[in-house]
Amino acid sequence: MNDVELMGLLIDRVAGLVRSDARRVGAKYQLQPVQLEVLDYIRRANRYSDTATAVTEYLGLTKGTVSQTLKVLLSRGYIKKRADSDDKRVSRLKVTPAGLKALRACRPSPLLKKAGKLLEGDELETTVDRLSDLLQVLQETNNDRSFGQCVNCVHNMGKRGDHWCGLTREPLSDPETELICREFTAREQWHPIGKH
Ligand code: SF4
Repeated sequence: MNDVELMGLLIDRVAGLVRSDARRVGAKYQLQPVQLEVLDYIRRANRYSDTATAVTEYLGLTKGTVSQTLKVLLSRGYIKKRADSDDKRVSRLKVTPAGLKALRACRPSPLLKKAGKLLEGDELETTVDRLSDLLQVLQETNNDRSFGQCVNCVHNMGKRGDHWCGLTREPLSDPETELICREFTAREQWHPIGKH
């Protein structure tokens, strides 16, 4: 078995274990793993990325799956939507307090939390860095949007307490610079899903 085959098997096993744990812990909140992933994305998305289209792009799901998932999340009170103030055809999504409570309990999954404690320190950081490298290479190879963290974007101007977006020419609060954005363009070294 070559290294690429081995890498594929390892990713499958890790994803399977994490997904199985997410299914178990999410059941308490009537949330399937994909519903948790969508909910978590919406929590971390900035105001240019909080739409159904962005969810589809970020998670690589079909429009139908995203539409069904959003319906379930809305009906259970985990998200709410509002019409965009400039374009009423666009709906903006936001996680409700009930959704945040479910996310706090389910993400990261208990299994990952335990693994994080066992790895700790440098080993944990190295694992995160290697996974980030792999994700970045996969996104570039696939020509996907990178959805990076705003603070690492080439368009992010200014400094702490006085940020603004050079692309949209709008001010950005400090908490907003921690969120991920579909318009992100890498500055140099960056983290594809954003360290919080
Ligand atoms: S600075 Fe970059 S990441 Fe931040 S809002 Fe503007 S385009 Fe998006």
